[in-house]
Amino acid sequence: MKIYLHNTLTGKKEEFVPLKKSLFGRPKVGMYHCGPTVYNYPHIGNLRAYVFADSLKRLMKAAGYKVAQVINITDVGHLVSDADSGEDKMEKAKKREQKSAWDIAKFYTEAFFENLSDLNVDTEGTIFPRATDFIKEQIAIVRLLEKKSLTYRTSDGIYFDTSKFPDYGKLGHIDLSGIREGERIGVNEEKRNPTDFALWKFSPAGEKRDMEWESPWGKGFPGWHIECSAMSMRYLGETFDIHTGGIDHIPVHHQNEIAQSEGATGKQFVRYWMHVAFMNIAGAKMAKSEGNFLTLDVLKEKSFSPMDYRYFLLGARYSTPLSFTWEALEAARNAYRRLNGAVCKLPSGGKVDAAYWDKALSGLADDLDTPKALATIWEILRDDKLSPADKKATILKIDSLLGLAKADEAPVEEEKVPEAVSALAQEREVARRNKNWSRSDELRNEIAKLGYDVKDTSDGQRIMKR
Ligand code: AMP
Ligand code: ZN
Repeated sequence: MKIYLHNTLTGKKEEFVPLKKSLFGRPKVGMYHCGPTVYNYPHIGNLRAYVFADSLKRLMKAAGYKVAQVINITDVGHLVSDADSGEDKMEKAKKREQKSAWDIAKFYTEAFFENLSDLNVDTEGTIFPRATDFIKEQIAIVRLLEKKSLTYRTSDGIYFDTSKFPDYGKLGHIDLSGIREGERIGVNEEKRNPTDFALWKFSPAGEKRDMEWESPWGKGFPGWHIECSAMSMRYLGETFDIHTGGIDHIPVHHQNEIAQSEGATGKQFVRYWMHVAFMNIAGAKMAKSEGNFLTLDVLKEKSFSPMDYRYFLLGARYSTPLSFTWEALEAARNAYRRLNGAVCKLPSGGKVDAAYWDKALSGLADDLDTPKALATIWEILRDDKLSPADKKATILKIDSLLGLAKADEAPVEEEKVPEAVSALAQEREVARRNKNWSRSDELRNEIAKLGYDVKDTSDGQRIMKR
């Protein structure tokens, strides 16, 4: 089967062709996802990045690929500013919490894993390397770059000279010609070019860091970007298939990963770059630094389950920006619980309907159209031609792509309206989320034909007998 993915490198949706085609065995795919900086709880925007990575993995598995998946843990070197200046986020957290940076990293790494498990992210076989376990590998790449004369030394570190990498800016076709120092990566008098970035930082004199290592350049710690090159190439090879992250990584972090990796190996680093759109809140990007973030625990305190949130995420394609509101989450919760309830009532022992399975899978294979797969499930529920048992078998098969069936998920509310009506209403919710107003109106009419009115309220849809 063919898979199409939007590749930031070319700006186009392209057929996915794996690097390692295997004539006899299964085809392989290598995927690397930039992981969390473990100085605080992941917020629900960060978690969108990993539900997206999970959808990609589930699709690849369903399409018969053997998946090698790596999600790194950034536990050192991510400074508060992209300008390679300011404090290391880990050291900052250490002061905030009066614990060692190592303890901070351990605590928030565990919190991250817990969140992934709560969200039913498939971590089977996934490798989660920590940056601090790969210092030697990072130093080796910097040494190689140094030998190739792609680096220079300043008073605070070893920098990559981007003027010596002609392809700099190729990801997302960023025009760097007009960039002035301070505009993009802050003022640093010693840098040769505004886009140059730190590969290795020297420990500041007089500051006792918890995390620092001996190196050919003295005591210090790696710059943030180099860890991703070191760990991805260590596990997936010098060239690999897919690399993902949030769209905020396009202009700096991923550009730098390409420059230092391709500068070191002379080979293409990554074939498909994919970027997840932001989770916004009140019109701004949800960000730890902005203090406008919500965690999964906050959602739980307000009696939303992580799976309600997963349903909310899957209702939009990964590349569409999402606005978080409590009303939208509530609508997702209602839909998810009704879906769960309807499926639980169906008997087991049926067989998968090939046409519906194909519809959902081909939607996912079309640049991860999760809303289409959700809509297909609701369509199955109201298809009278399908036996209840076959409905269940087909929905559960489709759910291998969506990951909504979680063993310990709360039981389901009693249906107050007939199943056919609630199925239509749920499809309408998806249509409205996608701003497909004409489909939404059609569905309202279909609901009316079954004797029910639908009203849109701040709590989501209300369905009443006519
Ligand atoms: P960080 O922990 O800041 O290193 O980010 C972890 C991942 O979350 C990265 O892939 C970021 O690009 C992504 N990310 C950060 N903020 C958001 C957001 N508001 N919406 C979606 N993804 C985000
Ligand atoms: Zn990264």
